[in-house]
Amino acid sequence: MKIHVDRTLCDNHGQCTITAPSVFRIDDQGILQYEENVDDSLRADIEDSMDVCPVQAIFIVTED
Ligand code: SF4
Repeated sequence: MKIHVDRTLCDNHGQCTITAPSVFRIDDQGILQYEENVDDSLRADIEDSMDVCPVQAIFIVTED
């Protein structure tokens, strides 16, 4: 599946890096980086990340 983070909403505090550390990380500049193309086996982790994101910035764009 493909995911998208709305950077106009994201606060870069990184709750999503805890729920899906293989997809989301905070870089040396303190900015969220993420993989756009995510294996479907990580769907539960992505859904957890969507749930914990305080500003609802994470979206699933396409399903596999
Ligand atoms: S949890 Fe949401 S607001 Fe926080 S870094 Fe991740 S995408 Fe951005």
